[in-house]
Amino acid sequence: MDYQAVLEEVAAFARPLVGRGQAAQYIPALAGMDTGQFGMAVADVSGGVYGVGDWQRPFSVQSISKAFGLALVLAEGGDKIWERVGTEPSGNAFNSLVQLEYENGIPRNPFINAGALVVTDRLQTLTGDASTTMLEFLRAESGNPEVSFDPAVARSESEHGDRNAALAHFMASYDNLDNPVPTVLEHYFWQCSIEMSCRDLALASGFLARHGLRADGTRLLPRREAKQINAVMLTCGTYDAAGDFAYRVGLPGKSGVGGGIIAVIPGRCTLCVWSPGLDARGNSVAGVAALDHFTTLTGWSVF
Ligand code: GLU
Repeated sequence: MDYQAVLEEVAAFARPLVGRGQAAQYIPALAGMDTGQFGMAVADVSGGVYGVGDWQRPFSVQSISKAFGLALVLAEGGDKIWERVGTEPSGNAFNSLVQLEYENGIPRNPFINAGALVVTDRLQTLTGDASTTMLEFLRAESGNPEVSFDPAVARSESEHGDRNAALAHFMASYDNLDNPVPTVLEHYFWQCSIEMSCRDLALASGFLARHGLRADGTRLLPRREAKQINAVMLTCGTYDAAGDFAYRVGLPGKSGVGGGIIAVIPGRCTLCVWSPGLDARGNSVAGVAALDHFTTLTGWSVF
């Protein structure tokens, strides 16, 4: 496969959609992002990496961090995490509170905010420093020691974090958090603030295409757990548009309100696309279109 040629064609296809949608407005530090940016990268399982457009420009990973948090908790603590968070799509907005009351403080899945707060709490208990653990993992897997937090974004989220604080307190009332709410929130915001490029993210998610093997060939996760993460990404990774994403793209994927989306073609490669203009559900407009075109051109969806 001539990845570079495919990426060029996909970028040309997506170009008319770049600039559509809005940057995330509810996080002031992200609200002013230039929606005219677009980048895409592919990392194949043997370490080759290809890119187009703004593929080397760092952006705020936001909820893409939730996929790495889940992987690290499974790696450190095994599948006990599934006693505290479910594996079902929520059908509600990513920051919704409603289901928590019906389901006794157990979030529907690890990729809505409530679920990610539980995962962050576990990672904090298992490692003593959830956000640094994630940062170090991402540096190692991307091979980029420059990957770092963006303190301005973390601060902005914390200053406007009432909804996440409400979710965390609500779950704490059901004893579904071990650490104090402020500690969990702080690590969660720092994780969301990590800045990486499409190149970095495509490389860092490679373990999901390699059935659990890290970039250096050591095992992060058993095959079964790598499979579980990909499955939950397919069914829950793109907010309450996961059905539409499966129908259009047909791959496990995880999006973030920074405009990035990672996607996995198990056994073959990982993709990352970025363009900050979001649709009403929080997914990058040009990003979803680009992934749709990629899998249509190559025939490489899981379907
Ligand atoms: N930090 C964001 C929040 O907690 C993440 C949202 C996202 O990317 O889905 O609201």
